Amino acid sequence: MLTNKTAAVTGGTRGIGLAIVKKYLENGANVVVMGSRKETVDKALAGLTEYEGRVMGLWPDLCDPEAVAEAFAAAKERFGRLDILANNAGISSRTSLYDYTVEEFGKILDINVKAVFVCSQAAARIMKEQGGGVIINTSSMVAEYGQPAGCGYPATKFAVNGLTRSLARELAKDHIRVNAVAPGVTRTDMVAALPPEMVERISSGIPLGRVGEPEDIANAFSYVTGVTLRVDGAAMT
Ligand code: NAD
Repeated sequence: MLTNKTAAVTGGTRGIGLAIVKKYLENGANVVVMGSRKETVDKALAGLTEYEGRVMGLWPDLCDPEAVAEAFAAAKERFGRLDILANNAGISSRTSLYDYTVEEFGKILDINVKAVFVCSQAAARIMKEQGGGVIINTSSMVAEYGQPAGCGYPATKFAVNGLTRSLARELAKDHIRVNAVAPGVTRTDMVAALPPEMVERISSGIPLGRVGEPEDIANAFSYVTGVTLRVDGAAMT
């Protein structure tokens, strides 16, 4: 399905990102696994040896336009194209408003929003030149209903939805589609940081009866256009 296509996945070293990487590889794409450090990228690549020759790892600072442009140029050099960008890297927060520092708020904005802007810009420049492409952002269901602490996190995901809608309009003329996938609670390191009783309470309120697995979310990263796709088991909050 994706043979001869090249996909770059930020935050591709674990959790949802690694599941997306595997899904794209299984479907025949060349994949660029992007992580924050060489060590974590190498660890992810060590589990993907069966795809040797179709996978490479890079760890640019996602907020540095030059570093990201260099990384995508290296990917294009290696695989000849860049067809798909999955802007998936992200961090969360549960800090209360009263304890939230400006530094912490700035950090979550950087990784969850600025990096999406920087990577989309660099990828779109390549995609426009080659005649098209797809950008898919990992949003969150909290961008519909907020959350009762850690206000920076939903604020960034509302921003991701805004970027998604706006870039979809701006880049359509260049044949670049822009979508967002909005996972509900999904079993990754991000959720492992929550108290188990909280995860239990959330699960019991999900009509499908369980939290999502990274593979559930990865399945939504193809054959979609123009939507923020909910992948949350029909949870209401
Ligand atoms: P995770 O913590 O397992 O993975 C996060 C990924 O982001 C890792 O690969 C990490 O290396 C990368 N990352 C973090 N900071 C980075 C930085 N500064 N530079 C480069 N990479 C960085 O979490 P996950 O649950 O797999 O999260 C993936 C995405 O899904 C995030 O955008 C998250 O907001 C979103 N999401 C997760 C859930 C959930 O319940 N797990 C729900 C909704 C949305």
